[in-house]
Amino acid sequence: MQPVVVQHPLAQCHLAAIRAVGTPSHDFRRHLNHLARMLFLEASRELPVREISVQTPLIETQGSQLARPLVFVPILRAGLGLLDGILPLVPEAVVAHVGIKRNEETALPHAYYSNLPACLSAADVFLLDPMLATGGSACEAARQLKAAGALRITLVCAVSCPEGLAAMEHAHPDVPIVTAAIDDGLNDKCYIVPGLGDAGDRYFGT
Ligand code: URA
Repeated sequence: MQPVVVQHPLAQCHLAAIRAVGTPSHDFRRHLNHLARMLFLEASRELPVREISVQTPLIETQGSQLARPLVFVPILRAGLGLLDGILPLVPEAVVAHVGIKRNEETALPHAYYSNLPACLSAADVFLLDPMLATGGSACEAARQLKAAGALRITLVCAVSCPEGLAAMEHAHPDVPIVTAAIDDGLNDKCYIVPGLGDAGDRYFGT
């Protein structure tokens, strides 16, 4: 499945701001939150709705309601930066957490925490990670979600690269990916180039 790259000019401006090394954490947060919202609007474009009747102050008319519950799954910790931007759009969504840390020496994913709801099979699930680098964390998180019953997963990431996209396509070809950029690739420390550095450190100011 081809990734969807959100080319909206505002999304690309927010992306440029979070890439810039001089952007302080408080601005990085603001720009990533805005970008996350724009990515999620694209990622949720095909969500099914059911028709409901709505009584306005004037007459009864037709409206829409999401047909299925939404579950947001930020991959700790950087995924929280996307969640902060998206959750205000759907405050009734369930938030599940997956903790996956990259071993900085081997760049392999280490899953250390998982708290998933029982309703996954009935839900539309959005997996949130700003950086799709090697794809190790996203592949492992998608594996956990499927093992727990998830049937419809979409990955939302700010920056991706060919290596991570190939890993996801290989392991989870059924998972659509929405991103703001497909960068050149990984450096020898498995950071995305040009990328934006460590998304978690930049978001949390650590
Ligand atoms: N995680 C990050 O935060 N940045 C990268 O470039 C790769 C993985």
